[in-house]
Amino acid sequence: MTHTEPHTGPSAVTGAPPLNAIKHPKCGRWWTGLGRAHCPACCRTFSCDSAADKHRTGRYGKDRRCVDPATTGLVATAKPWGEMWQNPAPESVAAVTPAQWARGTGSQAA
Ligand SMILES: [Zn+2]
Ligand SMILES: [Zn+2]
Repeated sequence: MTHTEPHTGPSAVTGAPPLNAIKHPKCGRWWTGLGRAHCPACCRTFSCDSAADKHRTGRYGKDRRCVDPATTGLVATAKPWGEMWQNPAPESVAAVTPAQWARGTGSQAA
């Protein structure tokens, strides 16, 4: 008497990218959104080119390399397809005005 369970269920479709997904063959990861940027070197996914550019340091053709996005001010956001790095939310940046940045916080002479 053999009892076999059918291989059907919600888990069968988990991990299957939608039709509009963009996949990187090198790492097998995928994402959605034409504006996204996927680093071919470290295979992290970013919300846009400007965000991706922040995690790259060094000079082009010399010592251009990736750094931990968290150290560059980028924040990780959980997406259905994985982790996406993006610039901080505008509201958190607005806490400090450009004028305050220019003035700096080190000179507190009375
Ligand atoms: Zn990278
Ligand atoms: Zn990749």
